[in-house]
Amino acid sequence: MSESATHHGLAAHEVVLLLETDPHRGLSGGEAAERLQRFGPNTLPVAAGGGLLLRVLRQFHHPLIYVLLAAGLVTAGLQEYVDSAVIFGVVVVNAVVGFIQESKAEAALEGLRSMVRTQAKVIRGGHEHTVPSEDLVPGDLVLLESGDKAPADLRLVRVTELRVNESALTGESVPVHKDAVVLPEATPVADRRNMVYSGTLVTAGHGAGIAVATGAETELGEIHRLVGAAETLMTPLTAKLAWFSKVLTIAILGLAAATFAAGLLRRQDAVETFTAAIALAVGAIPEGLPAAVTITLAIGVFRMAKRRAVIRRLPAVETLGSTTVICSDKTGTLTENQMTVQMIWTPDGMVEVTGTGYAPDGVLQDRDGGPAPVNAHAALRWSLIAGACCNDAALSHDDGHWSVVGDPTEGAMLVVAAKAGLDAERLAAGMPRVAVIPFSSERQYMATLHRDGADQVVLAKGAVERMLELSSTQLDADGVLCPLDRATVLRAADLLSARGLRVLATAVRAGSDPAEFDDDALAGTLAFTGLQAMLDPPRGAASSAVAACHTAGIAVKMITGDHAGTAAAIGAKVGLLDDAEPAAGAVLTGAELAALSGDDYPDAVDRAALFARVSPEQKLRLVQALQARGHVVAMTGDGVNDAPALRQANIGVAMGLGGTEVAKDAADMVLTDDDFATIEAAVEEGRGVFDNLTKFITWTLPTNIGEGLVILVAIAAGATLPILPTQILWINMTTAIALGLMLAFEPKEAGIMTRPPRDPDQPLLTRGLVARILLVATMLVATAWWLFEWEIGKGASVEAARTAALNLFVVVEAFYLFSCRSLTHSAFRIGIFSNRWIVVGVMVQAVAQLAITYLPAMNTVFGTAPIGAPAWTRIFAVATAVSLVVAVDKLLRSGRCAHRS
Ligand code: ATP
Repeated sequence: MSESATHHGLAAHEVVLLLETDPHRGLSGGEAAERLQRFGPNTLPVAAGGGLLLRVLRQFHHPLIYVLLAAGLVTAGLQEYVDSAVIFGVVVVNAVVGFIQESKAEAALEGLRSMVRTQAKVIRGGHEHTVPSEDLVPGDLVLLESGDKAPADLRLVRVTELRVNESALTGESVPVHKDAVVLPEATPVADRRNMVYSGTLVTAGHGAGIAVATGAETELGEIHRLVGAAETLMTPLTAKLAWFSKVLTIAILGLAAATFAAGLLRRQDAVETFTAAIALAVGAIPEGLPAAVTITLAIGVFRMAKRRAVIRRLPAVETLGSTTVICSDKTGTLTENQMTVQMIWTPDGMVEVTGTGYAPDGVLQDRDGGPAPVNAHAALRWSLIAGACCNDAALSHDDGHWSVVGDPTEGAMLVVAAKAGLDAERLAAGMPRVAVIPFSSERQYMATLHRDGADQVVLAKGAVERMLELSSTQLDADGVLCPLDRATVLRAADLLSARGLRVLATAVRAGSDPAEFDDDALAGTLAFTGLQAMLDPPRGAASSAVAACHTAGIAVKMITGDHAGTAAAIGAKVGLLDDAEPAAGAVLTGAELAALSGDDYPDAVDRAALFARVSPEQKLRLVQALQARGHVVAMTGDGVNDAPALRQANIGVAMGLGGTEVAKDAADMVLTDDDFATIEAAVEEGRGVFDNLTKFITWTLPTNIGEGLVILVAIAAGATLPILPTQILWINMTTAIALGLMLAFEPKEAGIMTRPPRDPDQPLLTRGLVARILLVATMLVATAWWLFEWEIGKGASVEAARTAALNLFVVVEAFYLFSCRSLTHSAFRIGIFSNRWIVVGVMVQAVAQLAITYLPAMNTVFGTAPIGAPAWTRIFAVATAVSLVVAVDKLLRSGRCAHRS
């Protein structure tokens, strides 16, 4: 049992004593550093349950390896020691390569995980700090709020409406209420209401707790230890390929057995027939395939990370290439999330604000350019006060650079107040806050209650429609309350929104009972004061990324909580709509969506490009509707309530900078820069990964089929083997490593974002590619046979003739490799040297071929013999001819495709 097991049975002050901490000031910085030394970092041990030996052994757990091991043992039993040694050598090389690749891929994934670091909020020395969650120590006073992932096991000391999703621990996904009471010692983990366990997610409210266990000592650490946490490198594709190679192995073994039986029936030498049957088996199985798939995926993940998209679940790499719809948030993803209030509208007129950014340099001026009379204009003044005080953000000024700590929308309201000479801190000192109704995307507003001398004042700000619901009067310039003129306010808001400005309304009220300060008590009681309209410019790369998606056959839809007018104006700027006056059905609001009937819903959703005033709950249904229309959906999100939609989407995309831990946890991919263009980049990389996998398979299969067929035909015809089992092993191992794997480094093809998304149900190999594979395989068999017979006919020894056939296989493979670098274009069009890895690989392979052909020791081991220049000439002539045939095949097929389209 972990250490935290008993803390639920103690009172909070006892836990404080036990852990020698302070329930209000937390640990001191020095004490925390000292404990970090003592207890170690707050991380889970990696590769629990794995262990080096197990990982090494896992490399041998493959049907093909079993076949090879059995073959090695039998050949040893037959006293064919050289063959046996070569077979075991291959097994070892295979295991070493597999082990290195697996470790590298895992290390890469592990490295990526650390790019999305979890931060924790703690109180140390009486001040709030944000620290990496690894630095938490037992005794730390940790603050939790909605959206956080608990960074350690905590005994709660204070809670406000705290609700936690504990599915990581208990599997139960309904959030549980938490409080700080003492519980009986025997309470099971799932019922310990006064504890919040590491890895669980805060879905509502806030609280504070003392860390009682960190790292491996937490309940999560316990589970980790029990089940092992090795991340699997499986994806639907790798699973399919694993199944494919298993079936293939069985089929090939059957064929090999049949070959052996046929040889015996023909009264051929048993040992020779047996080794031939093994040659058939090892030749026909594409042993490089699993490694190539893992490497290609890992390289894809790495390339995406370089472009700031961190993959959290490996299957996403594949799915990205098939994405047909991207649903994106507006604020912060398509726009900069750099807000500046540009205009303030009150029922008495418009005020313009100069200056951009968060520096409070600028002035408020009226229509004529004169200074706005902030102090003599009650509505304007109260709008600014509401914006500044009903606000949780702060401005910070470092090295001459102004920035916002907190929500940029609130930051902009602080800045405009400062430009008007109203300092938020001074205002807060004069009007201390006594209660708050926090902002949420569902509520769409925020309200605070302040003490103003002997009176109370309510200040509120939020979405225009919502504030109009809450208001019944409006304040004029002289401070007189008049009946609310909703129509005029809405018209003004529409005009401002149509310019792409984000509009928030402000309202005030005198007096309120703190005990009854809630949504219901406010409804219809506020006095509207004004509209603050802020500019949030589209991101620089947004419109080109949207255009690239459109060219790539990917629809882009904006889903925003903002006003339809603002959304449409921004949508037009980034190219989602043709112009700001959208066609009917192109923009749907949350209310319109809710009113749609079930039958019309998917169609309407498919047609619309923009969804405004949508609440996070509606996102889930949107994803489902698009999926029902056959779409592969990528969806962005950042809040707690976005998690179900992120999980439902084929690619859930969370924001690394502005997103909550809950959203990141639910996502398949995290954008470290929150930028829409990064999603487009990831899709491009995803397509590249799929291409490279297809290229590898198209390259490797003809050799395998060719090698298998050569042996099959030889035995069936009762002829001498033109190539020996050990030689086939040589070809497969060396070419897979030196040549095939280099395709994983292939850069993306030029037109990768001009073709439509890949249909996820489409088989990996199209009919055209299968035909090409069979064509090359047939040419390999025919030419290898021909060359072998030709060399024998010219008086060459069997060894020399086999060496010529072996080199033919390798040279044809090397030539064919260049052809496989593009599935449609010719090798010359993409440039022979544009992937330098391939050039290096070919040189390594050339040295290896010279060694096996001319080194006496290698000749003895592999049964080869030196060959002369005429044989090499024939080999290169054949390889050139094969390449020409493939080039013509490509040309004809691409011509036919172009013709069809
Ligand atoms: P997106 O969904 O594209 O990120 P958004 O930021 O507008 O857009 P929400 O955060 O759901 O979406 O906000 C919905 C609406 O609530 C906003 O349009 C705005 O009118 C209002 N709002 C946003 N932030 C605040 C805030 N801090 N206080 C009060 N009201 C706010």
